[in-house]
Amino acid sequence: MSDKNRQEENLIIIGGGPGGLSASIYAARNGVAPLVLNGPEPGGQITTTSELENYPGFPNPIGGFELTQKMTEQAENFGVRLKYESAEEVDFSGDKFTIKTEMGEYIADSIIIATGAEPKTLGLDKEDSLRGNGVSYCATCDAAFFRDKEVAIVGGGDTALWESTFLAKFASKVYILHRRDKFRGAKILGDRVKSKENIEILWDTEIKNIKGEKNLEGLRIFNNKTNEERDLDVNGLFVAIGHKPRTECLKGQVELDDYGYIVTNKKQHTNIPGVFACGDVQDPDYRQVVIAAGSGAKAAIEASEYIEEKENSFPAREVKIKNQTEQTEENPAAEKEEGSLNLSLSLD
Ligand code: NAP
Repeated sequence: MSDKNRQEENLIIIGGGPGGLSASIYAARNGVAPLVLNGPEPGGQITTTSELENYPGFPNPIGGFELTQKMTEQAENFGVRLKYESAEEVDFSGDKFTIKTEMGEYIADSIIIATGAEPKTLGLDKEDSLRGNGVSYCATCDAAFFRDKEVAIVGGGDTALWESTFLAKFASKVYILHRRDKFRGAKILGDRVKSKENIEILWDTEIKNIKGEKNLEGLRIFNNKTNEERDLDVNGLFVAIGHKPRTECLKGQVELDDYGYIVTNKKQHTNIPGVFACGDVQDPDYRQVVIAAGSGAKAAIEASEYIEEKENSFPAREVKIKNQTEQTEENPAAEKEEGSLNLSLSLD
């Protein structure tokens, strides 16, 4: 590979959703000048959220896409560089880390992984072949195609509840197909869908098969308690049954849990010193934008401190573990307790 396609950086952030962008803003303000490998599409999963009512600072709901645009603009104002490339392969075995993309190779002192999570599929016949022709995983992206039509949405979590209310603004009728008799999502969202005249909830209901060849033409559904089957004449199927973390390019390089989420400590460190993770890719529990942004800030503060210590030849792990109480002029960082942060990094 030519040097032209080989670039050295202090900090590379993989992923340009709220976690990655928040990390980039904090890192840039700390003087680290990160490069964000954004993937081909900007924004991550947040762009599939119709409106956020719970992101602090926005008394009126803000669209996920709009919030991403604002975060990107804010990051660029601080000199953050974004590249629309995906990490295809990483090597975290050396002192410096390597990332390969379709365009070239990047070397970095520190990495923040913020690759997010992607929607789960039902695994039904025709689900994949009719994707984009009636089957969708993103109500925000596709609801407008179903204006005055009837659609079904599968799931009983927050995503399904959010998306069904969004769909109800376009579709003449929205059926929520949920496999149990109780929602998993927040009560306030459940109450909201129950109050919508054009939303009907079909409890204990699953899909037997999808009908149609070129376009989705309907569903065969069944009640999993009574085994009663019937046709549901809908033009669209929205699948909202959760997400899986995007860790394909990381296999064997960083510790993952049984579900594929990156294992981090409360300071966003992975098991590899210098590699941090934030956002949904390491968060099986909350998946909230505000939490992704918060964890991005933490990861950036930690990465900045790691880089600073590395540049000053004070390897973070040795200083913290061996010499916490032995402060010397040559090694002032040793004064810090393990749990403390360099506050000048974040509060200047
Ligand atoms: P989730 O909470 O994991 O819910 C997934 C839903 O899909 C569950 O109701 C589950 O059924 C159902 N499901 C799973 N696999 C299925 C299958 N194969 N067939 C049929 N149904 C299936 O996922 P989520 O709704 O995407 O939410 C994930 C996280 O993001 C949550 O923590 C949520 O709070 C958060 N979130 C927040 C916001 C917001 O704050 N604005 C918006 C969206 C999501 P069971 O209930 O039977 O398990």
